[in-house]
Amino acid sequence: DDLDYPTKRLRTQEGHSSKVAAHYNELKECGLQVRNESRIVHLRNFNNWMKSALIGEFLDRVRQKKKGRIAVLDLGCGKGGDLLKWKKGRISKLVCTDIADVSVTQCRQRYSDMKTRCRNEDVFSAEFITADSTKERLSEKYSDPEITFDICSCQFVYHYSFETHEQADLMLRNACERLCPGGYFIGTTPDGFELVKRLEASETNLFGNDVYSVKFYEKGKYPLFGCKYDFSLEGVVNVPEFLIYFPVLVEMAKKYNMKLIYKKTFREFFEEKVKNDEQKTLLRKMQALEQYPAPDHSKLTSDKEEDYEHAKMF
Ligand code: SAM
Repeated sequence: DDLDYPTKRLRTQEGHSSKVAAHYNELKECGLQVRNESRIVHLRNFNNWMKSALIGEFLDRVRQKKKGRIAVLDLGCGKGGDLLKWKKGRISKLVCTDIADVSVTQCRQRYSDMKTRCRNEDVFSAEFITADSTKERLSEKYSDPEITFDICSCQFVYHYSFETHEQADLMLRNACERLCPGGYFIGTTPDGFELVKRLEASETNLFGNDVYSVKFYEKGKYPLFGCKYDFSLEGVVNVPEFLIYFPVLVEMAKKYNMKLIYKKTFREFFEEKVKNDEQKTLLRKMQALEQYPAPDHSKLTSDKEEDYEHAKMF
């Protein structure tokens, strides 16, 4: 957690991928204490809780169909924020891949620290690949050329690919082509409908609050690909992202024999999962809401509502 990468590493990729990679490469790993002091700590924790519940749900589904080893592809793994979730989910193999080489290095280090800490426990085996999944075929990079996955998990990443149809298609191919029959592609991404709704309600091409902001380049025109906006969150993320029109993704996925089985907004997912006592306890433990349960849910209907309303999972 104390790793520090002060050097700027810029890449020479075309388009916005280079900006995205450079941005994530420059992000400092500030350590748990600083992270916990951040104003968006509850949002981070909430997102983590959502991912835990999503991952748990789909690992259960895999286990209902098969016994034995489970292999997972973490597409856009970042610094490895989900490693513990996979350990808790008792998977056997994890392939972590990301465009940002510094993040992949940190992810590998976290994995190695986790293994050291859990000497007596069974920890999954892992492999780490630096690649731009919108431009490179992952299947050419796996150490086992025959590897297949039960789940591909793509958390808060897929929207970077919607710069062009080719990029979105290649990322989708990377996500799906090595899934076993009955395998799942799961993920979380900003809700394109909600973003446009908020933009249209704003008097300018900008909306947000003192914590986050979203700036579009054009209002009223929303091309299916390359509809760029700048997102920033307390200095945590400040990179170009692209609007995803979800029905297009659903159509595109058919090419890879995928059909949509599950799509919910964060609000819908939260309301469903929080009914489960185990998830509710986890939510409290992770301090995912400023105050939970909120008296008369006031926290959930004020600014906190915004925190999860603009995200969607698939
Ligand atoms: N999935 C991680 C998580 O949930 O903590 C990281 C999410 S972070 C918001 C987005 C990640 O997507 C970054 O690590 C970034 O480097 C990665 N990314 C963006 N574009 C990518 C691309 N073309 N190929 C692979 N990874 C990409």
